Amino acid sequence: MSLITFQQQVEDLAGVKLKLKINDNRSTMLSVRWEPDCTKVSLHRMFLQAPQNVMQSLACYIRQEHKIISRDIKAFIEDSLKKLDYSHTLDKSKLYSQGRIYNLKELYDEINDDYFKSKLKLFITWFGKPAQRSKSRLTFGLYHDQLKLIKINRLLDRDTVPKYVVSYVIFHEMLHHVCPSYIDEKGMNRVHSKEFKEKELHYKYYDLAQKWIKEQQANYFANF
Ligand SMILES: [Zn+2]
Repeated sequence: MSLITFQQQVEDLAGVKLKLKINDNRSTMLSVRWEPDCTKVSLHRMFLQAPQNVMQSLACYIRQEHKIISRDIKAFIEDSLKKLDYSHTLDKSKLYSQGRIYNLKELYDEINDDYFKSKLKLFITWFGKPAQRSKSRLTFGLYHDQLKLIKINRLLDRDTVPKYVVSYVIFHEMLHHVCPSYIDEKGMNRVHSKEFKEKELHYKYYDLAQKWIKEQQANYFANF
């Protein structure tokens, strides 16, 4: 369906003229801003394939008949997010698992065995530089769900960082695969659910790792 046809369809259903934007980002699935002269709608491209019931609910939300995003819209977004799999596009020759101190694949396999019955099939790599450039913000790890890729900051690849901390960061990122993000009532993608936080406590050295990270926060703001 062309964008113009799609816009026409949404406008017909909603009964109002829209400023429509289709996005491909990972956090905003659906956002509506009601301004005096126009209604601005931003939709993830997944909505181009939305079924009729979802489009109807969307129209009700745009018309402000529904004050919050309905359950069928949320279910549609969550289902569609799971299907966005780009892992086949991943260039495996650009993954670096062997560091100076730690081999990420080995640590990942160990965690996968201990906590997930070796069932997870994810990729892992180091990212970033071994030295820290700025003290303002530090991301220990990332999970790119559509690539099924875990990225661990190279700053952790040093002998002053305990193994249980590196493994904890890997475990945390693996949990992002197990407990997918969910859509809140404003259409935002939320990453750490209650279930996620409960499961995270199962990590054997959770307290130790948390303690180590808190101590480091005196030096920099850790975030992952
Ligand atoms: Zn996280």
